[in-house]
Amino acid sequence: MQGTRFKLFPQPRFLEEYAEPETVMVSSPAGSLDPGPSDEHMYTIFPIGKPQPYGISPDGDDVLAPPWTGDIHTPAVPDEEGHFDYLEPGTEQFEAAHLFGTIRFVLDIWEGYFGRRIPWHGETHYERQELTILPTLDNAYSGFGFIEMGGDSKTGTYKPFSLNFDVIAHEVGHAIIYSEVGVPDPGTPVGEYFGFHESAADLVALISSLHFNTLVDHLLENTHGNLYMLNAINRMAELSGNKQIRIAANDKTLSDFAEGWIKEHKLSQPLTGAFFDILVDIFHECLVDRGAITPEMEDLSDKLLATPDYAPVMQELFDEAYAANPQEFKEALLEARDILGTYLADTWQSLDRNELDFIHVARTFEAVERKHTGGRFHKIIRGNFDIRDIGWVEIGPQLAPLQKDSHANSVRTLMPLD
Ligand SMILES: [Zn+2]
Repeated sequence: MQGTRFKLFPQPRFLEEYAEPETVMVSSPAGSLDPGPSDEHMYTIFPIGKPQPYGISPDGDDVLAPPWTGDIHTPAVPDEEGHFDYLEPGTEQFEAAHLFGTIRFVLDIWEGYFGRRIPWHGETHYERQELTILPTLDNAYSGFGFIEMGGDSKTGTYKPFSLNFDVIAHEVGHAIIYSEVGVPDPGTPVGEYFGFHESAADLVALISSLHFNTLVDHLLENTHGNLYMLNAINRMAELSGNKQIRIAANDKTLSDFAEGWIKEHKLSQPLTGAFFDILVDIFHECLVDRGAITPEMEDLSDKLLATPDYAPVMQELFDEAYAANPQEFKEALLEARDILGTYLADTWQSLDRNELDFIHVARTFEAVERKHTGGRFHKIIRGNFDIRDIGWVEIGPQLAPLQKDSHANSVRTLMPLD
């Protein structure tokens, strides 16, 4: 059966290489989607005059919850064959279609890794998840029954998050964790829970973005497969309150947080960094399997890593190997991507929601890998967790309440009491 076409921006369009959207096909059968877009599990709206975001009120008492029953902009409607890729950027309808299409695209990917449908965690209470656009919000939230997208207006030109793949995919990542892992019992120590949540959300965005042909091609053309170079894959765009763009290819360790932590985004970096390096190492293994790089080159890469010799020596070797075999590089990267995605999905399903510290995540991931391969990648994986001090250093206390730019504050996980 034919799916439904959408036009999506793989990366923020102000990045020159991504100024043009890519047409993708999502799993919804052509003709099955209603105006909004909407389907049986979620509906998109662009409210007019919505006074505040869901779950938060300026005076701290009344909490606004979906559904929005006020006025809305004209919804996006499918063309005669049921597709939405005829819509052009610059309209409310394109924004709505981009938001829905991105969420469906990301869910398709992760439902593939989980091997089944991923329910919304609000499904116990709400029939459908509301996907809402609220330009006055300078953040994005994934909550009980809704995903709400604001935008970034701090740089002069307003940039709607409904057009930002990484921000949307990151929020879907939070929603997957709420649904598949759950929320810890009140009173359970939760420091690392927030770090784990942010890390998982970033990994969902990272792995999902690697499903865009254009992104994978740019990435390989720019790096020739030397992924430790700074490039699109690790320009993980979660525009935080101080406009910092966080980086998955970071060198943060748990020792950096031994005295304590304030921002959960920062706390997530050692875990995300470990998984990014695991991705790169598995990619190298896949390249060796395919004969695209030699085992000697892989050993050299491990030895030179973090030395000044790495860049000049390794880039030249990657340039040669990539030029000889670009197609094998692409297939190896897609293979490594799917290995990491599958293991993460298995890991998240096995986690205990009350033991969400990094060491439990790490050991569960190791057990999942052992089940899949008998431990082929164990040394790589354990080595990367060790380098981040996971299992070796305790994180210190939370030194201040979550900040304004956080989107993990408790009201976000608020659930009806019925
Ligand atoms: Zn987040």
